[in-house]
Amino acid sequence: MATMAETPDREPRPGNGGSPGERPTASPPAAERLLEAVGLEVAYGAIQVVWGVDLAVDRGQVVAVIGPNGAGKTTTLRALAGLLPALRGAIRFAGHDVTGEPAHVRVRRHLSMVPEGRQLWPRMTVEENLLMGAFPPPLRPRARQGLEKVYELFPRLRERRRQPCGTLSGGEQQMCAIGRGLMAEPRLLMLDEPSLGLAPILVEQVFQQIRSIAAGGVTILLAAQNANQALAVADHAYVMEAGRIALAGSGAELSASDHVRRAYLGIGDA
Ligand code: ATP
Repeated sequence: MATMAETPDREPRPGNGGSPGERPTASPPAAERLLEAVGLEVAYGAIQVVWGVDLAVDRGQVVAVIGPNGAGKTTTLRALAGLLPALRGAIRFAGHDVTGEPAHVRVRRHLSMVPEGRQLWPRMTVEENLLMGAFPPPLRPRARQGLEKVYELFPRLRERRRQPCGTLSGGEQQMCAIGRGLMAEPRLLMLDEPSLGLAPILVEQVFQQIRSIAAGGVTILLAAQNANQALAVADHAYVMEAGRIALAGSGAELSASDHVRRAYLGIGDA
């Protein structure tokens, strides 16, 4: 892997991990390593699609994984969330080795994922969909407060809270999917293709909302084909190609790379 910035330390720093279900604690130092994958490999049956991925997210960062269709971004995020097993490699979250843990245990550690395509329940109302994000028992007593926070962030969802999700616009559905992810009180929110299928004005809005969520203290890892927007919001980014990390660096460094400019930003050398 070519690395444009210094490769981060592999050993996690002392974290605020605790046991699953514990609430996030007060702000730790800015550079605390929250998520780390080392040599991650993932396969669908006999077909391996992710190879030796090293990836790190420090608390407070927005980190982006960009790359073309089929590069392995979704597969990587799903493995980090525990929705696919790691064939090889290790995943650490908040100071814990979570490599073998199922997704629901990682959710209790406040690692939350918003899947590509939103996957909402179309006949359930906005509020019912949001409440599903606080389904794990430790979260339920705080679900009302969670809803208030989501409605503050997305006033449109409050207006539409009694409406079936299937009747919302694409942008509103994306807000609802992100809101549902936030209901799990994430330390790390993973967003898979948050702007896919949205009109350009809504793409802009979604990335602004991602900035607001990060400013509110939630660390973000996002996968996106929209390199332009993703690099604009990212503190650090990875370029994934054919199942491997091809390049890594700050959002600004990658935006200036010839390869990224040609392949992902549609800008030539001249
Ligand atoms: P996209 O932006 O289209 O989602 P991606 O970078 O997220 O692309 P993945 O969806 O992770 O890429 O796909 C990586 C590779 O794994 C592709 O070759 C894809 O065809 C393959 N793949 C994805 N899902 C499955 C599956 N359920 N079974 C077998 N192969 C799969």
